[in-house]
Amino acid sequence: MVASGEAPIDPLAEATYTRAIMQRCKVCEASLTKEEKECLNCGTKVWEPPKSDFKTKGLAVIKWFFLFSVAWSALTLFTPWGGSFITSISVTFVLLLVRSSWNEMLAGRNE
Ligand SMILES: [Zn+2]
Repeated sequence: MVASGEAPIDPLAEATYTRAIMQRCKVCEASLTKEEKECLNCGTKVWEPPKSDFKTKGLAVIKWFFLFSVAWSALTLFTPWGGSFITSISVTFVLLLVRSSWNEMLAGRNE
């Protein structure tokens, strides 16, 4: 059956090995090492598994607060409930600032 002289490669083991040391650009499918943060071929930022530490969780919480405050702003704008529109839009704006600075913190922490 096998006459090429090469050891037959177990596809599953090969896939596991490939996943351990390599990752693929999702745009052009080029192979990259774990250390490479950008695709050498097309310059795309390489996908990284989400890290469920405090900062990442905090960002998710801020995102929900932000969406909630946007909904609250709409409520105060279009209905008589919810209190002052100025207050709710201020909260939304502050959350937007917090979210963007949090994003910057996340982006810069690996350097
Ligand atoms: Zn690429």
